[in-house]
Formats: sequence, C-alpha cells, structure tokens
Amino acid sequence: VAKRLEKFKTTIFTQMSMLAVKHGAINLGQGFPNFDGPDFVKEAAIEAIRDGKNQYARGYGVPDLNSAIAARFRKDSGLEVDPEKEVTVTSGCTEAIAATILGLINPGDEVIVFAPFYDSYEATLSMAGAKVKSITLRPPDFSVPLDELKSVISKNTRAILINTPHNPTGKMFTRVELETIASLCIENDVLAFCDEVYDKLAFEADHISLASLPGMYERTVTMNSLGKTFSLTGWKIGWAIAPVHLTWGVRQAHSYLTFATSTPMQWAASAALRAPDTYYEELKRDYMAKKEILVDGLKAAGFVVYPSTGTYFVVVDHTPFGLDNDVAFCEYLIQEVGVVAIPTSVFYLNPEEGKNLVRFTFCKDEGTLRAAVERMKERL
Ligand code: GLN
Repeated sequence: VAKRLEKFKTTIFTQMSMLAVKHGAINLGQGFPNFDGPDFVKEAAIEAIRDGKNQYARGYGVPDLNSAIAARFRKDSGLEVDPEKEVTVTSGCTEAIAATILGLINPGDEVIVFAPFYDSYEATLSMAGAKVKSITLRPPDFSVPLDELKSVISKNTRAILINTPHNPTGKMFTRVELETIASLCIENDVLAFCDEVYDKLAFEADHISLASLPGMYERTVTMNSLGKTFSLTGWKIGWAIAPVHLTWGVRQAHSYLTFATSTPMQWAASAALRAPDTYYEELKRDYMAKKEILVDGLKAAGFVVYPSTGTYFVVVDHTPFGLDNDVAFCEYLIQEVGVVAIPTSVFYLNPEEGKNLVRFTFCKDEGTLRAAVERMKERL
C-alpha cells in the first residue's frame, strides 16, 4: 500500500459490521438504517431505469437534480445558488469531501479538523498531502474550545473542516461557535469545508449552515447527501455547493475521481428532494422516538450518556463497566452481550483521547433498539 495510506486500517465501520455478522450481534455500530427509504423514491429509480436513463450522466449532475439541490438549499439556508455553476453532484458525501480536498488543497497546506472526526477526513487529507491539525471536542457538551482554535490557525492554514450536526458526538455547532469560526476564517483567509449530511436530524435547535453567515459563502464548500435523510445510504448520492471559483477545483477532482454519478439514482434523488416538508417532520419525529428508546436504555444499563442533539448517534462513557479502553469494551459488548457499537479512538489523531467513549446508532427499527437495550440491561 502507498505510504500515504500506510497508517490507515480497514475502516472501523467495516470491521465492526463484519463482527456483527460473525457473532450474530445486534448492529448499533455502522450508521445505516435497517429499514428502507420512501416508496416514491424507490419507484422513481425503477421508472428512471425503465425509461432508459442508464448512460453516463452529465459530469456535474443531471440538470433536474442540480436544480432540486439548489432549491432545497435556498429553502434551508436562504442562499440563492446557481444550480449549473455552483452545484456538483458526487457519489455520496464521502466523494464530495474527497473532491473538495483533492481539488482545493495543496501538499503541505494545513487543514484543521475537530476530533473525534469521521474517519475519511484524515485519510483523504493524507492522500492530498495536507498537514492535519486537530482540535478535540470534549465531553460532556463537546463545545468548541475557541481560544485553542484561535491559537492553532496560522498563515499556513488553508481550510477548516466542520461537521454539524456532528458524527460521532451528536453535537450541533452553536451560532456563537459558527460566528467565531466565520470571523477567524475571514480574518485569516481560510476556507471552510462543511459536511452537513445530518442537517435534517437536528432535534433541539435549527441547523445553521456556516455558508449562510455574512462573508462566508464565497469561502465555503457545503456538502450534503441523500443517504441519511432518505434512509438510502447505499445509493451514494451526494453533492457540493460552492461559489464558482471553488466549484472549479471540486469539479476538476470529481471529473477524474468518478467522472459522473449513477444516472437513474440521480433522477430518483431529484424526486426525493422535492418531498414536502411533512416528510422531514415525520422523519425527525420518528428519530426522536428511537433516540429516546436508546438513550433511556443506555442509561438504565449503566452508561454515562452524553447529550446528542443531532445525527442518529449517541456517545457514551463505558468506564462504569471497568474495561480498559473503547476497543476492549466493544469486543466484550459483541462477544458477551451481543451488541455492536463503534469504538471512537480511531476518530482522534491521538487515540488515547477516545479511549473512554463508544458510539451507538439509533437508525434501527424500534424492535431492534428494544432488543439491544434488553440485552445490555441484562448482560452488562
Ligand atoms: N457514516 C456512517 C457512520 O458513521 C457510515 C460510514 C461508513 O460505513 N463508511 O457510521
């Protein structure tokens, strides 16, 4: 394997899902729903395939989808963007992140991430030859240490990568945090890369796009996807929204990474994004009920549960059960309890910082969540 990838192992999500199958354990690890997205979206995909929409799509997206993305972004953030010039469709948000980083970051550029971070950030930054600087968000509230952030930004900082609502902690960046980040970006001429795939799973406060703050649109790439909101994580439809001068870099990388994204799925995605508001309201209501089942169960089982106000994840402290670290705890949980969680230490530059924390997901049907909770209450 190339040196730039030597330190990375099989992704933790793949590892844990394989163990779940091997041990017949209930998988509250990898974040994929065990139920399907809405029928009208599945029908739209079938229709698109029957309709002969099966050859390469236009590189930056089928026109209907580009305009549906721009329309939803206008509704959500108030920003008016040009669907033809400022929206790029990618193969999932993970590709949007890769295209953004590979298209806009030079070797040696510093990029700031917040730990714990989604694992692809560090690996992709490493492929781009970037220097990764990480700022740790700490329990109980995982707030941004703004003074530390100020002290880390330097003249070599090219970009800051923000994920709100935040995987794995469920933290949502507050307006004050985003305003401070915005003024630091503007003062120091830093770009912002925002992964907002959980924007529709914001339970207590409204999601805020950093791009919508004054002076930020021109320096921000906002990324999102279909998978979480429409329970179709296997479709791999994502996008990046950015001003023309940044879109150019994103599109250049995208052209040579994947060239284009699955055509019929893009047509179906454009139908999905035209869903009425009631779809999103119902999704949120469903997830709040699921969250309650899991959170109450984890507390009853004896975990220290940290508040999650967005995403479909919750992070807990496992140390009441006396195991050394997160990996050992997750192994015990699979083998002795029959439940899979994700150890968080791989989401830090310094794995020690995550050794007390594990992540559970509640994107499962209620029966599965209740069964997992019962096992933990009985067997832990
Ligand atoms: N984003 C999902 C999670 O955090 C799955 C990611 C993956 O499997 N690569 O669980």
